[in-house]
Amino acid sequence: MKCVVAMMQHETNTFSTLSTELAAFGSGVGLKAPPSGEQAISIYGAADFAFAGMLAVARAHGADCVVPVTAYAEPSGKVDDDAFDSICKQICDAVKQGCDAVLLDLHGAMVTQSYDDGEGELLRRIREISPGIPIAVALDFHTNLTAAMVDNCNVIDGYRTYPHIDMYATGERAAQSLFHCLDYGITTRMSWQALPMMTHMIKQTPLRQPMKDIMDLAIEAVDNTAILNASVFGGFPLADIPHISLSVLAVEPSENFLGEGLVKQLCAMAWKRRHDFIFEPEPMVDSVKTAKQFETYPVVIADHGDNCGAGGNADDLSVLDEMLRQGLSSIIAGPFWDRQAVERMIACGEGNEITLTIGGNTSVPSIGQVGHSISCTGTVRKITDGRFVIKGPMQTGLEVCLGRTAILDIGAAQIVLSEERWEPYDPGCFTHAGLDPEGCRYILVKSRQHFRAGFEAIASHIVLAAGPGVCSSDYAQFDFKRLVKPMFPLDLDMTLEDRRPV
Ligand SMILES: [Zn+2]
Repeated sequence: MKCVVAMMQHETNTFSTLSTELAAFGSGVGLKAPPSGEQAISIYGAADFAFAGMLAVARAHGADCVVPVTAYAEPSGKVDDDAFDSICKQICDAVKQGCDAVLLDLHGAMVTQSYDDGEGELLRRIREISPGIPIAVALDFHTNLTAAMVDNCNVIDGYRTYPHIDMYATGERAAQSLFHCLDYGITTRMSWQALPMMTHMIKQTPLRQPMKDIMDLAIEAVDNTAILNASVFGGFPLADIPHISLSVLAVEPSENFLGEGLVKQLCAMAWKRRHDFIFEPEPMVDSVKTAKQFETYPVVIADHGDNCGAGGNADDLSVLDEMLRQGLSSIIAGPFWDRQAVERMIACGEGNEITLTIGGNTSVPSIGQVGHSISCTGTVRKITDGRFVIKGPMQTGLEVCLGRTAILDIGAAQIVLSEERWEPYDPGCFTHAGLDPEGCRYILVKSRQHFRAGFEAIASHIVLAAGPGVCSSDYAQFDFKRLVKPMFPLDLDMTLEDRRPV
C-alpha cells in the first residue's frame, strides 16, 4: 500500500499587509522553501504535528509513505498564488504517480490571492486527478469549514484543544478512521453545519465554557457511539471572506444516521450560548496597571492585538512602552520582529552598548494602525542563531528557528529581537538565549491563547493586554466587505432564520 502524506498549513489574516510567499513556508524551521521527503520527515515526523500522527499510523499499517511537502508558515496576509500553486503541485504530482490513500495535515483557514478557501481548492484539485482516492484530513480548530473541503475527502478531524496540544493525536484519529474504513470496506458520510458566528478567539478555548461542554459532548459521541470523528471548529474571524463560522462536523459509516442529530445538537448549544463567546477587552493602560498591583511573580502579560500567531506583525511596542512608562522593571519581553535592529546589534557585538530604535517598522493601514517603536540605549547581551527545540506541550519536539536573534538589555527589560516572527508558546524563545522567565517579574509575550501552553504553569498571574494590531478583538476596526451578513455578533439581534446559506 502506498500513501501520500503531506502538510499545508497557513492561517490567513486578510487584513494583514504581510505577504506570504513560498519562502515563508520554510523559514520557521530555517529553510528557504518548504521541505520534502526525508528532510520533511526529519523535521516534522517526530514532533507534535498531525502530519507526524498520520505518518505513524500509515507506517504501522505497513504503508509505504511518500512525503511531497510539509509547508508550514506563521500566519500573515493572503498566500501568494505562486506559493499556493507550487505547494498544491507538489502534492498533486505525488498523487499522479499513483497511491492508495492521501493523508493531509491542513489548516482550514487559508486564503490565497485567488481562492477564499485554499484547502477546499487543494482537495478539489486532488480529486480532479484521482476522483475516487480516499483522503483523510486533519484540520486546525480555527477552520472556517466549507462544502469544498467536506465534499472532496472521506474523513476530517479537528484539534480538540486551544492551545493546540493535540495535533499529533488529531492526525492519528483522522488516519485511523480512514484505514479502518479501507480495511472493512466502509464508506463514510459527513454531516456538518456552519453557524454565522464570529466568536472571539479569547473565548473559544475548549478548556473553559462556553466551548467546553460542546467539545466534551463531541468527544463523548466519538467514544460511545458509531460516530468515527466529531469536530467542533471555533473558526477564524480575521478574514474578509464570505464563509466565517463556528462549525460542527461528524464522520460516520454511511449506513448509520447519528451524525446529523449530533451536529444539530451541538450547533443548537453553540447558538444558544452565542453571547458568552463575546470578549470585551479593557483599555491596555488599565491592564498594565492591574499587572503592576500583583505582588507575586512572574506576571505574564499577553499582548493579544499584535499576535503573529493570528497574523500580527509582532513589532508594535505599545505595551512594552506603557509598562516602562508605569515604572515596571525586571521584564523579559519578546520575541519582537525587527530585522534591522538585529542586524545593527550583531554589527555592534555582544557586550557593547548601543542606542537604537526598536519595533514599529510596520503599520496596518487597513485598521489605521501606525507601528509604535521605542528608542533606547542598552547593552547587546547576547546574539543567537534563534534555534531551539520545543520541550513544552505544543508542537513538542520541533526545532524552531527565529532567525538570528539578539537580546537587548535596557536595565528595566531584557528584550528579545528576532529576524522571523514567532508566537511564543514555549519558554525556549527566552531560555535558549540565557534568559530566565521564572526569575523575572514580568514576562511580556505577543499571544492570545497559545502562550498558555508554555507559560501558564510558571505564571503567578496572567493579564491580557489589548495592544494595537491586526488581531484586535474589536471587530468594529475591520472593514468587512465580503462577509455574508447578518453575522453574529456584528448583528447582535439576528436570528438563524435571517441568514441565507453561504
Ligand atoms: Zn489554530
